[in-house]
Amino acid sequence: MQQPSDEIKSKLDIVDVVREYIPLKPAGVNFRALCPFHREKSPSFVVSPEKQIFHCFGCQKGGDIFSFVMEMDGISFIDALRNLAPKAGVTLKKQDPKLTSQRNRLLDVVEVSRKYYHQILLQGDKAKSAREYLAKRGLAEETIEEWQIGYSPDSWDDLINLLKNKGFNDKEIFQAGMSVNKEGTSRFYNRFRGRIMFPINDVNGNTAAFSARVSPEKEAEEKMGKYINSPQTMIYDKSRILFGLDKAKREIKNNDLAIIAEGQMDVITAHQHGYKNIVASSGTALTTEQVVLLKRYSNNIALAFDMDKAGEMAAERGIREAMSAEMNAKVIEVPEGKDPDECIKNNKEEWEKAVKDAKPFMKYYFDKTFAGLDLNQVDGKREAAKKLLPVLAKLGNKIEQDFWIRKLGQALDVGEDILRETIRENTPKARQEYAQNAPNDANSGYAETKPPVKQSREEMLSELFIALMLKFPSLAEYAINHIQPDQVAGLPNQSLYRNIIIYYNNLIDNWTQEGGQTEPPQVSYGGLKQWFEHSEVQEDKDGQLILLDKLALLGDKDFFDFEIEQAKNEIIKIAVILKKHYLLDRRKEINKLIAQAEEEGNEEYIKSLMEEFKQLTDEIGEVGN
Ligand SMILES: [Zn+2]
Repeated sequence: MQQPSDEIKSKLDIVDVVREYIPLKPAGVNFRALCPFHREKSPSFVVSPEKQIFHCFGCQKGGDIFSFVMEMDGISFIDALRNLAPKAGVTLKKQDPKLTSQRNRLLDVVEVSRKYYHQILLQGDKAKSAREYLAKRGLAEETIEEWQIGYSPDSWDDLINLLKNKGFNDKEIFQAGMSVNKEGTSRFYNRFRGRIMFPINDVNGNTAAFSARVSPEKEAEEKMGKYINSPQTMIYDKSRILFGLDKAKREIKNNDLAIIAEGQMDVITAHQHGYKNIVASSGTALTTEQVVLLKRYSNNIALAFDMDKAGEMAAERGIREAMSAEMNAKVIEVPEGKDPDECIKNNKEEWEKAVKDAKPFMKYYFDKTFAGLDLNQVDGKREAAKKLLPVLAKLGNKIEQDFWIRKLGQALDVGEDILRETIRENTPKARQEYAQNAPNDANSGYAETKPPVKQSREEMLSELFIALMLKFPSLAEYAINHIQPDQVAGLPNQSLYRNIIIYYNNLIDNWTQEGGQTEPPQVSYGGLKQWFEHSEVQEDKDGQLILLDKLALLGDKDFFDFEIEQAKNEIIKIAVILKKHYLLDRRKEINKLIAQAEEEGNEEYIKSLMEEFKQLTDEIGEVGN
C-alpha cells in the first residue's frame, strides 16, 4: 500500500507549497528565491518542480516538500504530514502508527474538547447567558462558528468523562491541559468550568489550548480571574503562538502588514469586519519567537496596544528583536484610547485612518518619552537619553539609527558625537545578544546559518563533475570509465560517486541479463533516488540524498543552457584536472615514502616505490595539461 507521505508528495507540487511562504522567481528549469532559512542578499535558494526538491546553496539546507514545511514551521514530520494531507486531499487514518505519537494524542484531546464546548455553546441551556454576552459584544453566528467559540459547563467531570469514553486516559487529559489534579489524590477534575471558551490555534490551525473567559453572570464573584488560559503543555508553548495567526497569515502576507492587538476579542471583531491581518499576543509580552513567526509573512508590524503600555513595550524583547531584525515596527494610536474592538465596531473609518496613520515605533516612543520630561533641565535630558539610547542602540538599520541619533541630539541639544559614543558602548552587546538568541534557535524559523564551508578547488570541481553526470546522463559512461572514486575530492563526493557507480553497474548488469536488446540504460536522478531509498546503502544515507539533490540542482543551475557537446568538453576538462591533481598528490606521497625508506635503507621497498614514482610520472605526462 502506498504510504500517505508518498501519496501527498504525488498530489502536491513543492513549488505551490513553497510559494505560500516565499515568492519564487523562475530561473531556467527551476525557481529561485532569497533563502528563508538564512539571511542573504542574492538568491541561492532553488526549488525544482521536476525533481520536487529544494536546496539552498548558501546554508546547504535541502530536501523535499516535507523537510521544507518542517523547517519553515519548526514542526515534526508527523505535523507536516498532518498539515499537508488536507491540501493534497489525502485522508490520514487515525490508526496510522506514525500518527499515534503522544503529541497527536494530546491534540486530539483538545480537539474533542473544542467540539464539545462549541456544541454546548450553540445548544446548551446553561450557555444562554454566554450566548447573550457574545451577541451583545456583536459577534455574528458565522464568527462564533469560524472561531469555534464554546462554553464549558459548570461541571467537575463532564468533559473528563466524555474524553475517557473516547479512549483517552487521565494522564493524557491532564497533559493536554484539560484537567487539574486534586491535590494529594489521584483524582482529576475539569480545569475549565462555567466559562466562555476561545480556542487558541497554532499557526497551522490545530487547536492547542484555550483562553477561557468567566461567564458574565459570575463575573462579580469570580476569584480565579476574568480570563484563565491553558497551562504550558507539550502542544502549547504560549511564547510561540499568536492568537489568530492561522486565520490571519494569508492576509498578513497580502497586506504586507501584521497588526498585533492585545486581546482575542479585538482580533475576532476585526476579522468579522473584514480586517483579517490582525493577531493577538494574548496578554503576554511579544516574544522573540512570535516576532520571528511574523517575519515569515511580513516585515511590517503595527502594534495596537493600550497606549499606556507603550513604554513597557519598548522594553519588550520582541520589539527590540523586531527592530534589530530590521522589521518596521509601528504604533497604531486607537482614537480616544479605545481598544480596537470598540473602535472597529463604532467607526470603521476611524480605525482605517488610525492604521494608515500609524507612527513609526521610534517616533512614537520619542514623543511619549519627551512628553513627560522637561528637556530644558539636565535631569530631563539625562532621563530621556537613558530611556532612548538603549533602544536606539538596537536598531538594526543603520540609516534609521543615524536619523534618530540626530533627532535626539537636536531635542536634547547635545552633540551627536557624545550620543554615538554612548551607542557604540551599547552596540556590540546588543548585536551579540541578537546573534546568540535568534539565529541559533532551531525552531525560531531562522534556521542555523552555517558559515559556508571553505571548499578546495578540487572539491568544487568534483561537485561539478557529478552535477554534469546528473544533468547529462549520457556522460556517465565516460565519467565512470575515466575517473576512479578516490580521484574525486571530498569524502561525501567520493561516497556519492561510488554509489552512482554501483547503481550504474547494477543497471548494466540487469540490462545484459535481459539480453541487451533495448537501448542501454542511463543514470538518472529519479532512478538514483529510488535506488538509494531501497538499496542497502546505509552509510549516511540522508547526507547522501541531500548531496544528490544539491548536485542535481547545481547541474540545472550551472549547465542550464549547455548543449551536450559543450557538456562533454566540460566534463573532460574537469576529469583531467581531477586526475592530474590526484596523481600529483600521490606522487608527493611516494616521494615522502622514498625518503623514509632511504633512511631505513630498505632497498627492496625503495625499488618498488621508484617504479610507482616513474609510473605516476608517465601517467601525469599522459594526462597532459
Ligand atoms: Zn539558505
